[in-house]
Amino acid sequence: MPDTILVANAGSSSIKFQLFEVGAGGRLDLELKGQLEGIGTRPHLAAKDAAGRVLADDAYAPGEIADVAAALEELEGWLTEQLGGMRPLAIGHRVVHGGPAYGAPVLIDDAVLAELETFVPLAPLHQPNNLAPIRAIRARYPDIAQVACFDTAFHRGHPEVADRFAIPDAFHREGVRRYGFHGLSYEYVADRLQQVDPALAAGRVVVCHLGSGASMCAIHAGRSIDSTMGFTAVDGLPMGTRTGQLDPGVVLYLLQAKGFDAKAVERFLYHEGGLKGLSGISNDMRDLEASDAPGAKLAIDYFVYRVIREVGALAAAMGGIDGLVFTAGIGEHSATIRGRVLDGLGWLGFALDRAANDRHGPLLTTSASARPAYVVPTNEELMIARHTLAVLQRSSAPR
Ligand code: ADP
Repeated sequence: MPDTILVANAGSSSIKFQLFEVGAGGRLDLELKGQLEGIGTRPHLAAKDAAGRVLADDAYAPGEIADVAAALEELEGWLTEQLGGMRPLAIGHRVVHGGPAYGAPVLIDDAVLAELETFVPLAPLHQPNNLAPIRAIRARYPDIAQVACFDTAFHRGHPEVADRFAIPDAFHREGVRRYGFHGLSYEYVADRLQQVDPALAAGRVVVCHLGSGASMCAIHAGRSIDSTMGFTAVDGLPMGTRTGQLDPGVVLYLLQAKGFDAKAVERFLYHEGGLKGLSGISNDMRDLEASDAPGAKLAIDYFVYRVIREVGALAAAMGGIDGLVFTAGIGEHSATIRGRVLDGLGWLGFALDRAANDRHGPLLTTSASARPAYVVPTNEELMIARHTLAVLQRSSAPR
């Protein structure tokens, strides 16, 4: 049985996982992927091998898998069976917040875990869920190496002005600042772009990660310069259900004039806004594209408008733009949204190739276009597996 790396992405009601085989020269091949979702409500384990063959498709009663601990136990049994009793070489975890300091993935020990706990107030919806499996696995299998890979790390080289809010320094020092997220996706895309278009990879690129969470990143020569997401993953673009950028005065209004408490504000910002709030129909772009309702049209118009506006802002942050990349669910699959964004960027010299866009690229622009635009499918899990293997190799190398 060859060595494997397990990648885990744990949320509040689901644990997604992928298993990679470590080949010669550190090559990573996907062995299987799956998720246990609906924890505590409608638990369901689904998994497929690399060829798409179904390995598991099992529903459970809610009480059978009532919490993350029970989900981990179930997954442990299932994965042990799949691995024929072999343990993975290491487990790589997606961790949303690495705070101001972590600019790279890290091997987990008790001190690191304690420090990552201190970032819970910065990401109360995600960080505790990300850390729970790490703690549980550490207690049960202290000899399996675990690596934390952060959504914030790729952005840690920003110029200071990009990461500041205009607030007194004491708040900045306690962590009230811009971090940026989706970093594992941007890092993967920036790396992949070296094969797709090496000249562009060395230049100034705006990458649009448009999924149910959405953000954009200015990347110059492979390094993040600025991002639309800030202190939390609610800033910037409108998303499936998140508002995106909002005048903070709106929050004051909700508190003072509408009697909202903190929980109600959180629900408003994270669950009632974005495409769902604007359309009144759905948080899913596919539903909106298929609808004739005025709300659906408004939501799409607003989404496209904000993406175009942010391209201008991020290009300005880099002193120019050499190309554009689309990734994630909407970016990879919606020819309509890409087409409308690129049509709106004609002033920057982007010339859309409609037939190429309809077949999802990879190149979306004509030979007459002043700059190229591409679709580059993201792969955050592979990025985590690569990081995990690299951290492991560094930590076991003789000093
Ligand atoms: P997540 O942020 O959950 O990883 P994804 O990157 O998978 O999400 O993006 C999911 C979203 O992508 C869906 O909510 C849907 O709006 C959008 N999407 C997926 N396929 C299409 C498509 N063919 N056309 C338009 N939108 C799509």
